[in-house]
Amino acid sequence: MTREAYESMVDKSLKMLKEGMPYDGLFFDIHGAMSVVGLEDAEGDLIQRIREVVGPEVLISTSMDLHGNVSETLAKHSDLITCYRMAPHEDALESKERSVRLLLERLETGKGKPAYKAWIPVPILLPGEKTSTRIEPGKSLYAKVPEVADQEGIIDAAIWIGYAWADEPVNHAVVMVTGDDKEKVTAGAEKLANAFWDVRNEFEFVAPVGTLEESLQLALNSDKKPYMISDMGDNPTAGGAGDVTWTLDKILQRPNLNPAMDLH
Ligand SMILES: [Zn+2]
Repeated sequence: MTREAYESMVDKSLKMLKEGMPYDGLFFDIHGAMSVVGLEDAEGDLIQRIREVVGPEVLISTSMDLHGNVSETLAKHSDLITCYRMAPHEDALESKERSVRLLLERLETGKGKPAYKAWIPVPILLPGEKTSTRIEPGKSLYAKVPEVADQEGIIDAAIWIGYAWADEPVNHAVVMVTGDDKEKVTAGAEKLANAFWDVRNEFEFVAPVGTLEESLQLALNSDKKPYMISDMGDNPTAGGAGDVTWTLDKILQRPNLNPAMDLH
């Protein structure tokens, strides 16, 4: 996103936020892998500016895609924080519901902010194409999240894969656990972070991968039709615009794939 577009969006959002003051709680519903020209941590910048408006007392519950990135700033200003536990994201609405429900529970019971938050950046950077929770090791890793989250004294637990393709310092895996029991929050976060670290070399692509040339050869040699090739670097559901023409240009340069050149 250009800096101008971002600033325009933030200005409008903050203006509307000011008009609705004061607040008890705020549901911060973000994907988490925004890239803004000239900013290293866009979501961190956004929540910090929201904090400056709503003040330190307001309970902020952040809901994210597991392909989002959690910087220390985002972790600091989020009181409650969670993300999807499934990739593909079949539980997207369930996760948002959990984020809002926990926010309301903490407000209605008067418990307010969690006594403890654990934030563990895990020095692993994997693409979404390798981290489906339908296959191992993602399946068993994410199965450990509810084991931690459902304990007495824990509010929620989450594992972020991060967004590899943005190629920014903030892109890496993160584990967070929130709760009122210091021992359980600490132990739960360490359990998930260590479990992730232990399987770091076991992630495999969920489908065959190759260069465009290799993929085109596979397609041309295949008797299956249609044959689908996905440009992973331009994935519209994962931060890409979905309109990059590099692949199209390469295909049009091949006489056997360009109908216009076939006519000659
Ligand atoms: Zn995602």
